[in-house]
Amino acid sequence: MTYDYQATFLAARAALKAEKRYRVFTEIERDCDRFPVARWHGPNGLSRDVVVWCSNDYLGMGRHPDVVKAMVESARTTSVGAGGTRNISGNSHAVIELEKTLAELHGKEAALVFSSGYVANQTAIATIAQLLPECLILSDSDNHNSMIDGVRRAGRARAIFRHNDAAHLEQLLAAADPDRPKLVVFESVYSMDGDVSPIHAFCDLAQKYGALTYIDEVHAVGMYGPRGAGYAEEVGAMERLDIIQGTLAKGYGCFGGYIAGTEALIDAVRSHAQGFIFTTALPPPVAAAARAAIEHLRNSQSERDGQRRQVRRLKERLAAAGIPVIDNPTHIVPVMVGDAALAKLASDRLLDRHGIYVQPINYPTVPRGTERLRITPTPFHADALIDQLVEALGEVWDALDLPRGTTVLEKAQFATAGSVFPPAGG
Ligand code: PLP
Repeated sequence: MTYDYQATFLAARAALKAEKRYRVFTEIERDCDRFPVARWHGPNGLSRDVVVWCSNDYLGMGRHPDVVKAMVESARTTSVGAGGTRNISGNSHAVIELEKTLAELHGKEAALVFSSGYVANQTAIATIAQLLPECLILSDSDNHNSMIDGVRRAGRARAIFRHNDAAHLEQLLAAADPDRPKLVVFESVYSMDGDVSPIHAFCDLAQKYGALTYIDEVHAVGMYGPRGAGYAEEVGAMERLDIIQGTLAKGYGCFGGYIAGTEALIDAVRSHAQGFIFTTALPPPVAAAARAAIEHLRNSQSERDGQRRQVRRLKERLAAAGIPVIDNPTHIVPVMVGDAALAKLASDRLLDRHGIYVQPINYPTVPRGTERLRITPTPFHADALIDQLVEALGEVWDALDLPRGTTVLEKAQFATAGSVFPPAGG
């Protein structure tokens, strides 16, 4: 008898369902002219308008007229695809221009674009560590899956330090051979709790113990710093970091990822990174659009101001309504449910009864018992929409008998940078 492949796949699905963490994707059709409203497509041809409250197009740049125009013009005048890998025939002018813009944005000598932020981390971390003989990688315990994968692929020794814990990082650095190359890998804004890392403290330690620093600014670029260069720019630490990684897919509303660093480092990664070399380059229209988004946010503060205002307003309203939210200094509003099944029920009820779309976040994206609704207000979530959301959450909390009160996770208290979203009157 041959192996029953389908039975294995069905059993894998059944196991996820039994654990209440089978993922159901929500089908939406975004609408440039009505952002953050989108068309939801449900079963049996059902469809309706919903307000999207969980998009990572944090500033609505994916629909910005300059960004759309840059993409359409580039597609019309160059082509939709790159036509090859960078090595063969896809080394497009638009991508080169984008890399120059990114290097300049981060104050680095050079930058390198990848297919996504995920691929950038996975490939760059592995390649950099492999280039450094006997490299010890020191990685924050809450790092994103793409960074963990990069660390694993490196095949080098690794030490995990407690999330945002500079004292623990120092212990690990001090225990290592002073002559050994070391790479400290961490994020600036952590996407699920919305807390921020002590960048200066980590840079001080890297300097003291002769380590390189690699920061993931995926949830910060576009939104922090006077030119949108990220949280490191916000706290005046950009020039202290050796490698800055980011995405073009969230604050910039497009697609693709990158790293920025010295010319020598970028050239070494360009020449050795498999996930860069053996794949078709970023489409020129995507590169052109991303560059337009970066240029716009470099010169315009209104999106950042608008987002901060709406975030602050939502946090105040939620606190007043007793809806539990993790306290943090960023644009991410994690509303805590603490149970996978209830988080799904809350999300379904928001959609069915209130026309509000917020995806539930479950294990393994967050630890079990910390299941949540992750809300991300944009500058386009008007005051009336905020009022409607808070009222809807109140109804859902009552209907599902969910606990009220404010939640402050201990880990959020490690944050050292001043809040850019101070409480009312703060
Ligand atoms: N790094 C972090 C911290 C992320 O949260 C994500 C995705 O959400 C990525 C990297 C991957 O970026 P991208 O979506 O551009 O692949």
